[in-house]
Amino acid sequence: MPLSRRRFFKIWAGSIAAVAVADKVLALTALQPVIEAGNPFGDCPDRSWERVYHDQYRYDSSFTWVCSPNDTHACRIRAFVRNGVVMRVEQNYDHQTYEGLYGNRGTFARNPRMCLKGFTFHRRVYGPYRLKGPLMRKGWKEWMDAGSPDLTPETI
Ligand code: SF4
Repeated sequence: MPLSRRRFFKIWAGSIAAVAVADKVLALTALQPVIEAGNPFGDCPDRSWERVYHDQYRYDSSFTWVCSPNDTHACRIRAFVRNGVVMRVEQNYDHQTYEGLYGNRGTFARNPRMCLKGFTFHRRVYGPYRLKGPLMRKGWKEWMDAGSPDLTPETI
């Protein structure tokens, strides 16, 4: 059966209308409309995601302390506390403002200090291997209670 010009245009117009309707239905159900934003930092309609990054550094209080885990640096550190827990630490950048017992004072050049051991110190404080009390070498107290006698080959 030959396709008349009139019938061809009817089929073509019906197909276009069907595609247009399907496109709108699909856009309303499965797709989000495109939001035009010129400057994403200035015009972005939803910037709530930025709060995640801001909150990472939010703290309730802070205090300074001196790290001295048996090395000679004694770095001055500031700890930041949130909900009663030290969340992070950083160097205090004030080595030039204080001095030792003999009046020796550091300079700005001493900043920054700290090492990775100091940066992770609070994690060890909260870690499972933290010592919760003093330790004593086995047998030492008995030896002291006995008047710390001289060591002999038999008592070593
Ligand atoms: S931060 Fe590092 S270098 Fe400074 S006192 Fe602590 S362990 Fe020593």
